Amino acid sequence: MLAFREFVLKVHQRCNLACDYCYVYELADQSWRDRPAAMGRHVWQATAQRIRDHVQRHGLDRVDVILHGGEPLLAGRSALISLITDIRAAVPQARFRTQTNGALLTAGMLAALAAQQVRIGVSLDGPPSQHDRHRRHRDGRGSHLLADRALRLLAGHPAYAGILCTIDPASDPVDVYESLLTYRPPMIDLLLPHANWATPPAAGHAEWLIAVFDRWYDAPRRETRVRLFEELINLVLGGASRSDQVGLSPVAVAVIESDGAIEQVDSLKSAYPGAAATGLTVFDHDFDAAAAHPGVLARQSGRAALAELCQSCPVRDICGGGHYAHRWRPGGDFRNPSVYCAELRRLIDHITSRVAADLSASGCR
Ligand code: SF4
Repeated sequence: MLAFREFVLKVHQRCNLACDYCYVYELADQSWRDRPAAMGRHVWQATAQRIRDHVQRHGLDRVDVILHGGEPLLAGRSALISLITDIRAAVPQARFRTQTNGALLTAGMLAALAAQQVRIGVSLDGPPSQHDRHRRHRDGRGSHLLADRALRLLAGHPAYAGILCTIDPASDPVDVYESLLTYRPPMIDLLLPHANWATPPAAGHAEWLIAVFDRWYDAPRRETRVRLFEELINLVLGGASRSDQVGLSPVAVAVIESDGAIEQVDSLKSAYPGAAATGLTVFDHDFDAAAAHPGVLARQSGRAALAELCQSCPVRDICGGGHYAHRWRPGGDFRNPSVYCAELRRLIDHITSRVAADLSASGCR
């Protein structure tokens, strides 16, 4: 059994936006409707004790606590500070970060979170015309102005973790990438939209990613880090990944819902209702019980969890079958190639050939 090293706390279940690709609100699982909007103190205090026990039992020197939602900043400044204070008192090894849509990231909120050493990432999908196609308020208004304001506050700030961008293959890839660069992000996370064999994605993701890869790779100086590309280069060179998008590294993430339920990673909710559930709670179970759950174990078994086609695939150890949620096929299970299989293969082949050409030019083999 592998210990959890990352704990995602659903500090607020609701969102002030209604992005059309959101796996929490717009896709298969609607369980958020039955949970309290905000995580109560009794929930985060019970969570803190469970994390402390887990850290002690497994001798962990560090764990990451992610303040998540919905939109986590809807929880409000005082609840967030109180939660962080309580968890840090129980688990001094905890490091905190949050992922926000930026709408509520005022100067005051930023100062309060930064004072607690919380690292902050903002979701942005590109320039206004692109971002506002998908990331909208319920009444249809775009949200780019709000994300822009948040990112202007963050640019150059030590609390700035980076930008998370969900790919739209209909957009201009270099235009999107360069618009993100204007906010000087230390890291960009490019995410494939959640899809599976029941709801397949649009075509064109590989071409989109290859165009951005070439723009990033060929820049005369490194303008930012792009996690997916760095992970793939590392895997091409024979290293291990720390990503759940590619590679065979086990996933060591537990999610705690606002009512104290312990769940598997949230993205599984894009497959079918209840896909992330474990039936466990922080009140009645420790995290070792969650780590022994069959769904969690399946995500830690690397090659053994792969479909037959993936087992014999020449890029198996680099691709790792892709994101687990993207493997689901109705009436079956997750033992399938990713629905992005062909796109992943094209991207991996491209990066492999670029890296090989560089190694060969520099005399390495
Ligand atoms: S490229 Fe396709 S077949 Fe190969 S490991 Fe990835 S998902 Fe499986």
